[in-house]
Amino acid sequence: MTGDGTRAVRAGLPEPTAGEPSLPGPVLAAHYHLPGEVAATPYGYGRQANPTWTALERAVAELESPDAPAEAVVFPSGMAATNAVLFTVLRPGDTAVLPSDGYQLLPRLRERLAAFGIPTRTAPTAGDAQLAALDGRDGEGDGERGGTGDAGAGTAAAGAGAGNAARLLWLETPSNPGLDVCDIRRLARAAHDRGALVAVDNTLATPLGQRPLELGADLAVASGTKALSGHGDVLLGYVVTRDPDLAAALRAWRTEVGAILGPVEAWLAHRGLATLQLRTERQGHNALAVARALRERPEVTGLRHPGLPEDPAHAVAAAQMRHFGCVVSFTLPDRAHAERFLAALTLVDDATSFGGVRSTAERRARWGGDPVPEGFVRLSVGVEDAADLVADLHRALDAAARA
Ligand SMILES: *Cc1c(COP(=O)(O)O)cnc(C)c1O
Repeated sequence: MTGDGTRAVRAGLPEPTAGEPSLPGPVLAAHYHLPGEVAATPYGYGRQANPTWTALERAVAELESPDAPAEAVVFPSGMAATNAVLFTVLRPGDTAVLPSDGYQLLPRLRERLAAFGIPTRTAPTAGDAQLAALDGRDGEGDGERGGTGDAGAGTAAAGAGAGNAARLLWLETPSNPGLDVCDIRRLARAAHDRGALVAVDNTLATPLGQRPLELGADLAVASGTKALSGHGDVLLGYVVTRDPDLAAALRAWRTEVGAILGPVEAWLAHRGLATLQLRTERQGHNALAVARALRERPEVTGLRHPGLPEDPAHAVAAAQMRHFGCVVSFTLPDRAHAERFLAALTLVDDATSFGGVRSTAERRARWGGDPVPEGFVRLSVGVEDAADLVADLHRALDAAARA
């Protein structure tokens, strides 16, 4: 059994062959030579399969499930991967339980699901509400949020297939942007007892930080746009499962819907995996240093990072995560204060997304989709020197406080 760094460097690469590169270049092909029977090769037409995807899929499957066979299916974005799971697993009449505090596009999917006769219930990531939601009691009575108000559109406990056992439990842990954590093992057991499948959005942790399939999930789903690719130059999504039938259904969905990853993007992401362990370790270390510095500032409230020992999520996080991720979130007194802070930073770009080698931060409420205060900042810590980042943060906080 090799370590994470070794695995990340080698994952998905072909056996060394004389005269061939270690990572073959992107295969740019709309069609391949295909004499005779189509079953002779998976590579007939470019929407169905591509050898550059295959290599990346092997790598991602190996990282998410090093000890048991698993299959990955790559998509052109995290949302494409998310929708592939939802619309492959769920049928009209099925009910899904989604996080109420997860990635901000998830609530909007509730309307689309409702239009296909698939009601949803929601529950926050922290606490016990997911169990109630699994059993048909709305986790927090917010069933109308994101719904259309039409019959079956996910309206609170009375609608939303109340009393229906759920078919799918969707978890996002740590959640973006609030950084709450839920116990995957416990919830997967509870869901399986009730006949539900479990999908975990593993975007924030990456497979080096957390392996949902080992913790009992049926599907690990992620946006590779963030820390997995890590350079802010690729959009990418993936799903990994140990169930070959689910994997086949996801591939069929991709072929039929037709939204596919470009081979250059697949190659860039695979190239970047070689440094995933280095980046994860460095960014986790930096994030903790930054969180400790922010903890000392009186104007900072609601500081969250699962690696901080006093964080409410730390105990559960420590039991299932191997790295705590690069995101730190906190709240400044108001919108203007946060805007002054972001403008005064010199080493941290005001930009969305997270997980990249360059530090970024943003006032999350500017998008209008997250239940966060106006002064809430999501900070993604990069691979710069921790001391430089801490100095820049203190300087920008001092500047923001003066105005
Ligand atoms: C960004 C993100 C997504 C969506 O991924 P895209 O690649 O932007 O489509 C899904 N889940 C989480 C947790 C994310 O942060």
